[in-house]
Amino acid sequence: MAKESYEQRFLEKLNVPETLTFDDVLLRPTESNVEPEQAGTDTNVSKSVTLSVPVLSAAMDTVTSTEMAIEMARQGGLGVLHRNMSVEATGDAVERVKRADELIIRDVVTASPDQTVQEVDAMMSSEGVSGAPVVDDDDIVLGIISGTDIRPYLEVGDRDEVREAMTDEVITASDDVTAREALELMYEHKIERVPIVDENGTLTGLVTMQGILQRREYDAAARDSSGRLRVGVAVGPFEEDRAVVADEAGADVLFIDCAHAHNRSVIDSAKAIKSAVDADVVVGNIGTAEAARELIDFADGLKVGIGPGSICTTRVVSGAGMPQITAIASVADVAAEHDVPVIADGGIRYSGDAIKAIAAGADAVMLGSYFAGTDEAPGRIITMNGKKYKQYRGMGSVGAMQSGGGDRYLKDADEDEEYVPEGVEAATPYKGSLESELHQLVGGMQSGMGYVGAESIQDVKETAEFVRVSPAGQTEGHPHDVVITDEAPNYKPRE
Ligand code: 5GP
Repeated sequence: MAKESYEQRFLEKLNVPETLTFDDVLLRPTESNVEPEQAGTDTNVSKSVTLSVPVLSAAMDTVTSTEMAIEMARQGGLGVLHRNMSVEATGDAVERVKRADELIIRDVVTASPDQTVQEVDAMMSSEGVSGAPVVDDDDIVLGIISGTDIRPYLEVGDRDEVREAMTDEVITASDDVTAREALELMYEHKIERVPIVDENGTLTGLVTMQGILQRREYDAAARDSSGRLRVGVAVGPFEEDRAVVADEAGADVLFIDCAHAHNRSVIDSAKAIKSAVDADVVVGNIGTAEAARELIDFADGLKVGIGPGSICTTRVVSGAGMPQITAIASVADVAAEHDVPVIADGGIRYSGDAIKAIAAGADAVMLGSYFAGTDEAPGRIITMNGKKYKQYRGMGSVGAMQSGGGDRYLKDADEDEEYVPEGVEAATPYKGSLESELHQLVGGMQSGMGYVGAESIQDVKETAEFVRVSPAGQTEGHPHDVVITDEAPNYKPRE
């Protein structure tokens, strides 16, 4: 008798639930009156941050540094800065993103009245500006000098002082000026820049026509209440110092960056970080409902993904993981009851995967490999066998760990002990601009919304249904029995 129950204890373990991932399912087409281009893509990425595009770029050192974060926010998504850098560098990177499209430039290049025209001309070209407010030693604005003032035909000599050449009737505005008001001043007075001054006439900033036009170009950009670009920052679960510095520099969302957040000490530390900062705190990664229940009372968002990533070897190295569609649905069931957004992180290769992730319960998706080949990702283009690539590596790869990152996967090993990596170093095809990649990604997601008749992301979450796909069905779903002659912008055969 005892023997039989012993055997059953282990046999019982094989009574396992079925788990599914992207290729196992398809969205079931339904009657629809939604045209894809009308499908709305607004979403919440954390309790207080909304985006017009439900997409994040991964916190990896071959994906998101400042250039990627700036462009992601301009396009309406969110870049999450990686943390393979010093705490101080994280603060600087956050500030760079926040300043990128600011209406009022704070770091103003100024001229002094007794510099020569030649000196100011050289200074303006080295700083890359075409005009500068002229200020005295106390930063009181005396005039403004621009390329037009110092063009040779205006009879100003190279050695003349700036005070001779500058325009001294300066149109200024105060700190609370709006883009529209500044533009009106510019049109009325035929000028291209308006210095911002306080009540004493001291310079506090500058608004330029070029800056305003650039902001207009990005009308769907993710911006905070002061109009600055939004930015996310990865912080280690025990890195309260990085969290505080990023928060003070203006980060909108902090992402607790951990391979397995369902861990007592990670949870305690994440709670401490949450109470030390103003920014929203998204916690991850997790893949089960139990983990979600542990985090739900303090997290402003939950990030899902245990081993689905393209460069990830967690599942083969550790034997643990959770197929991503099941992981998303398990977490989303808990999160939905508490109105906490869910981010599906990793494993997304096609736009169809992204909208399946939303249908399984995610509010937004995070991608690494999809963006690693774009111009905005760090690293240079390499050519192999005549084809262009960019480097892409897991943050738990040997290379990333050796260069200081990857403690997400690091065991407490002596320094001279060999690493046990959970990621690989790879190359990904070069893809051109982020803007066009995002256009394909979001366009494909909207196409999916058209097939399921959903007019919003919330609608996809609530109403889209899945069907199960057999291996034959999967084969049928990709181009077959043909030789592809021209690359499509949104499809590459699986390797
Ligand atoms: P991808 O979009 O390339 O499929 O997956 C990107 C995601 O993989 C990242 O956002 C991160 O969650 C995860 N990731 C990044 N580096 C590693 C790694 O070295 N090992 C594992 N297990 N996951 C990684």
